[in-house]
Amino acid sequence: MRYLAKNYNRKKISFKYGKGSYLYSTNNKKYLDFVQGIAVNSLGHAHPKLIRAIENQSKKLWHVSNAFQIPEGEKLAKKLCQKTFADYVMFQNSGAEATEAAIKVARRYFYSIGKPNKNRVLCIKNSFHGRTIAAIFASGSNKMTEGFGPKVPGFDHIEFRDKKPRFLNLRKKIKKDTAAIMVETIMGEGGIKPIPDKCLKYLRKICNQKKILLILDEVQCGIGRSGDFFAFEQSKVLADIVPIAKGIGGGFPIGAVLMNKKVASGMTPGTHGSTFGGNPLAMAVGNTVMDIVSSKKFLNNVKKLSKYFLSNLNLLKEKYPKVIKEIRGRGLLIGIQIYKDQSKFIKKLMDNKLLTIRAAENVVRVLPPLNVKKKELDQALKIIDKVCTNFK
Ligand SMILES: *Cc1c(COP(=O)(O)O)cnc(C)c1O
Repeated sequence: MRYLAKNYNRKKISFKYGKGSYLYSTNNKKYLDFVQGIAVNSLGHAHPKLIRAIENQSKKLWHVSNAFQIPEGEKLAKKLCQKTFADYVMFQNSGAEATEAAIKVARRYFYSIGKPNKNRVLCIKNSFHGRTIAAIFASGSNKMTEGFGPKVPGFDHIEFRDKKPRFLNLRKKIKKDTAAIMVETIMGEGGIKPIPDKCLKYLRKICNQKKILLILDEVQCGIGRSGDFFAFEQSKVLADIVPIAKGIGGGFPIGAVLMNKKVASGMTPGTHGSTFGGNPLAMAVGNTVMDIVSSKKFLNNVKKLSKYFLSNLNLLKEKYPKVIKEIRGRGLLIGIQIYKDQSKFIKKLMDNKLLTIRAAENVVRVLPPLNVKKKELDQALKIIDKVCTNFK
């Protein structure tokens, strides 16, 4: 690669086409793809219904400005709202745009009720909310922010301890000018770490007491990935604002911010916009993904597959206690934490035709499509078993 900038350390492989859980490389090899564009292709590659949706819409209308009504977007927004707490949806094109827009909604709400100084957002140190200038400073990771100063003000950080899970000094960190707490319901890049239900409940309780907003970033863990349509459903905690992206487009770039009526009151005409966000082509795909993934039957199957996969991965952990430290995750958002640096492990899996991707804390992220077949999980288990046998 000569002309693509070097901001990625790319593996030396490219693909001709994909089908379901598989990718076919330009050098004619077949890979089981358990990266799926990092939890993006929720229905695998080349799903017939998604192909049809995009074909049909592409003959009618690709793009019109948000200056006009877009019925396909209204339809998807309605479906999303009917699934959860939200009253309104604002479409974007990516996860980082969605998390930034979520911050804008929170700030604008306090501005609109006459409290413009209430504008700081409290985030978990080293979490992940995307790579835009504001989002990297929201994450507070030194690695992501290095060289990108000046520091964007308005973000504070708390630590989340996973042994005996809890937030350190949460009450003390909330100041008079704190507007919102923003966390990922399941930390993805951070190593597949779900925030336990009781901690989420505690966050909600404190937000209520302090009259601040709760933003749950479901960009990676939402849209069926956790086995529930939204990961926060399991805890029965309701957020005020929820950014989503990755899985909702099934491979087409779509982001969105879900919000309740109260906070939406600040978003009056002209306060936010996006040229591409929610265009008819994107919405045709989004509606199709939504219809498939949000069905109870589909989600029950994700849960069933997850249970099967996780229990078998745990058996491998018992079989190879010196290689695998922990099996993490929920639904089909799964992490295998290993004792050594995971890059060699990922390479070995790839040599055996299984694609996975790293996360922090030596975690190998395993992200099958949500419609993966049991025999494909078995194939992956066999490869992982084989790699563990010889792994030093
Ligand atoms: C991937 C991700 C983002 C950023 O999404 P992009 O589409 O890459 O901008 C934000 N938050 C979380 C939790 C993510 O996993």
